[in-house]
Parts: sequence; C-alpha cells; structure tokens
Amino acid sequence: MIRIRTLSSVAVAALVACTTTTEPPATQGSVDQYVADARRVAGEDLKFLMPVCNPQPAVRAAPSAAMDAGLARLINQPAPVPGQAFDNLYYVGSAWVSAWVLKTSEGLILIDALNNTKEAADLIEGGMRRLGLDPAQIRYVLVTHGHGDHYGGAQMIADRYRARVVASEIDWKMMETGLEFDSKMWDRPPKRDMSVHDGDTLTLGDTTVRFLITPGHTLGTISPVFDVRHGGKVHKAMIWGGTSFNFGRDMGRLDGYIAQTERMRQLAAQWGIDVPLSNHPGFDGTVAKLKARTAAPAGANPFVSGQPVVDRAMRVLNTCARAQKARFLIAAAGGTGEAYAFASDAREGAPDDGAKDGQAAGAPLHATLSDDGRPVAGAGHPGAYSSAEVPLAFPRSLHADDHAGLCAHGEH
Ligand SMILES: [Zn+2]
Repeated sequence: MIRIRTLSSVAVAALVACTTTTEPPATQGSVDQYVADARRVAGEDLKFLMPVCNPQPAVRAAPSAAMDAGLARLINQPAPVPGQAFDNLYYVGSAWVSAWVLKTSEGLILIDALNNTKEAADLIEGGMRRLGLDPAQIRYVLVTHGHGDHYGGAQMIADRYRARVVASEIDWKMMETGLEFDSKMWDRPPKRDMSVHDGDTLTLGDTTVRFLITPGHTLGTISPVFDVRHGGKVHKAMIWGGTSFNFGRDMGRLDGYIAQTERMRQLAAQWGIDVPLSNHPGFDGTVAKLKARTAAPAGANPFVSGQPVVDRAMRVLNTCARAQKARFLIAAAGGTGEAYAFASDAREGAPDDGAKDGQAAGAPLHATLSDDGRPVAGAGHPGAYSSAEVPLAFPRSLHADDHAGLCAHGEH
C-alpha cells in the first residue's frame, strides 16, 4: 500500500509560491494597471473588495493606544440584526467581524468568535437565541485565523458549552508563541485544541466542512468550504478566511496570497462553489444581503452569487495582491514609494480591515480609475496565472489522534 505523506501547509505554500515568479518588472504603470484591472473585474457587485487594492504600509502595526482606540470604534458600531442566510447557515456577527453558525443534524459549528467575551455573549449567544438557536448545541468553534477579532470570544464559548476549538496548526503555533497583533480589546487566545491541516474535513451529523489552508493574511488562515441549503437546493459555500494585507512588506506572504487565490479560483470551478462569503461582512455584503432576504424571504437568495462571481472575487483579490507586491518591488528598487506613502483608508490601526458594508474603494489612487472600455481579459494580465503548477489536490493529513470527527486521515 502506498502511504501518502503529509506535506505541511507551509511546504504547500512554499511550493505554490514558487509558481508565481514570472512577472513583468514592477513599475508604477503596472501598479496602476493591476488596480484598474481589479476594479474592472470587481464591477459594481464586488466593489466592496476594492479597499484590498489600496496601498498598505510596509510595517505591521504595533500594539498601541491608537490601535486599541481604533478597535474600540470598530467593535462599538451598532451591530446588524442577526439573520438567516440559508436553511442551515446563520449570521450572528457584528458590523465589523462575522460570526457564522452552521447548523447540522447533530449540533452547531460556530465559525469565528468575535473580539472578546462580552461581544460573544451579546452578539453570538444573544443573536443565536433571537434566531431560535441554542448556544448549548455548539460543538465546534472554528477560528479562521489567529487574530483577536476572530478568536477573542472562543475560550468563553468553549468553556461554557464544552465546545472544541479548531484552528490550523500554523496559527495555533502563532497564537501560542507570538501574536502578530495584540490589543487589550481582545481576550486571550483560546487554549490549543484541535488542529487541522490543508484538505482536512470535519464531519458533524449530516454536514462536512473541508478546511483549505490559504496562507497570506496569516500563514495558517483557514478558508472553510461546506454545503448550504435553500429552497430544496444545495449550494456550496466558501468563507475566504483572511483578506487584507496588514502584514507589512512580506513578499512571501503576498506570493502565498497570489497562489492561494488562484488555487481557490480553480477549486471553485472544480467544486461548483457558488456562495462566496467572508469573515468580515464588509467583504461580502452580508448585511445588505440579510436585509434583502428579510424583505423578500420567498425571493431568490442574494447569497447565491453563482460560480462566476466567486471566480471574479478571487481574481480581484489576486490582482490586488499583485498590485501591492509591485508597490513593494518599486520601493525596494529605489522608487519613490509614493504608492504606499499615504494611509489606505480611515481605519488605520485596525488589524483586519473589513470594509464597512457596501463601502466602495477608499483612497483614490493615482491609477487610471476610469474604465477604458477594454474587454475584461479572461485572466487579468497575460501570463499572470501560472495555474498549471498550482496543486489542485492536497495531501491528506495523518494526525488521526486529533478527533474522531476529522476524517481525512491518510489512508482510506
Ligand atoms: Zn486578521
């Protein structure tokens, strides 16, 4: 019998990162072109992704009173009304950070736990009760990545309901040994519990969640894929687990992000992913979509965007990452650095810049923003996607001792 070896996600990331090195020399013109391309691909319906294209600082934000104050402002925005996106998927997040509840035949899976215990109690527990969901049925808390706006309430939920906390091995290590960001607005990271690797699945009752490790935003960001149901139809949802480039000048991360958005674009086509979601409502229009569902419950589900929209969303993020990489390359080559010399938007200090719902792109770049009427190329810049070398199949993991529910263990 052939034993399938486990590659770590870092190795996978490095492998795929190596496929993205054939790019034209970076110039301000190429930055402008990437941004213009992203804007064109985003169109009206995905313009909430365009803040990702704004110039980002070369240095990661350090803990500071200003960051705490910025976080407090984000956290204290009035929360949206909790709501039901699908028969089996509910939103109990804030105006800034998402918290999704996936309902299965044997309990609930909470996807992200907001900033702290108080917020988790108010919005997650409170929201669930408003929606007729019992928090005591939470079996798992998935932390999509190791930043406090997603893990802050996790330990409370785990302690109160004896739920298991799931994160990637890479981000568990980061949370244990050195947080990328910290703030007193956040409760401490959860205690290490279940660890997942790229391609692992978790099955609870009638529902299976597949975890894709999509490094970039953090090195162990998880983008979960699962089925959702509406009107007797099954759709496939994907939550992009980390969106913004708030890690400073780290070309490896940008390469990883470029590779992973391309991999997800291909997987979305292969698997028929037609529901693109985010862990920040500003990056998927969740609040407006929930309102639309409430206003017309019998109408078409606005969360079902269709597979071509998932494709476009991944291309927008991919192209924005290329723009940011080009900015850093220009600066490294002695360019003016002008491209990222000004603040990207009004949310500086925030570690994860989920745009406000429906918000268009922020700072006006000196890119050509008007649509020049060129047809949208199938793949952005010519030669920009070296897709053939991006692995579509991921290695199975072998950590069978983690939990019985984790079923993608090596040999079958
Ligand atoms: Zn983050």
